[in-house]
Amino acid sequence: MPELPEVEVVRRGLLNHLPGRTLTNLSTDGKKMRLPVPVKALKSLTGSRIIDIRRRAKYLLIEMDNGAVMVVHLGMTGILGLFPEGADIDPHDHIRWILDNGYELRFNDVRRFGSIRVVEPDQAQALEQTIFKANGPEPFSETFDGSYLYKKARKKQQPVKNFIMDGRVVAGVGNIYANESLFSAGISPVRKAGAISEKRYILLVEKIREVFTTAIECGGSTISDFLDASGTKGYFQIHFNVYGRRDLPCPICRTPIRHVKLGGRASFFCPACQR
Ligand SMILES: [Zn+2]
Repeated sequence: MPELPEVEVVRRGLLNHLPGRTLTNLSTDGKKMRLPVPVKALKSLTGSRIIDIRRRAKYLLIEMDNGAVMVVHLGMTGILGLFPEGADIDPHDHIRWILDNGYELRFNDVRRFGSIRVVEPDQAQALEQTIFKANGPEPFSETFDGSYLYKKARKKQQPVKNFIMDGRVVAGVGNIYANESLFSAGISPVRKAGAISEKRYILLVEKIREVFTTAIECGGSTISDFLDASGTKGYFQIHFNVYGRRDLPCPICRTPIRHVKLGGRASFFCPACQR
């Protein structure tokens, strides 16, 4: 499943190609994705120009010059790719936007857990009160700091890993990066969120940003040939310290990495380095 860094890498790749482009035509295969594809609303954007692409949590926000916004979620297997118009169509290319420069943008999604919504201009300013009402701050925003996390964690009995993976607390910290940032901060994933000091939360915020930054840079270096590419190759060629390394030696102290399930999610940690 694409996590926040992968979505950010896709955004940066598309930013090099989409702003300024006009949508000249739309083609869909009629398949239902996680939500029904709003074909009529998408068609009404024909003739509009893309002005910007933003990201909120794991959603891409494609902003149009008429004020409307296309809100895209990649789900488990969704890919946005650019292809020359007329290039071979994959059976999982569900939506194709023909652009005014001989290329087309395609939403390919094998498992169809992805979604797309069109937010009309009169609703576009209210996204934080509607679609993103339940989302916590972005990990790179000013609101998200150690004292924010510390205050949010008061009286919380749940493991800290579940706490930071709660999208209401902070947006976009998925399983892989929760594991990795807790390792870097030396915090055990099973420790109660309410039992961690403010000082350690300050360090954790720093480490969350660090692992995201590294992952985005790593993804960014694989995306230079974004045109014609499905764009996913290499995203996960990131070096993990604990994720997926059950029983392998900790990179710091050589203690075997332990594996537990927390909230149903695979959790990896070093019992010696993480307290
Ligand atoms: Zn260790």
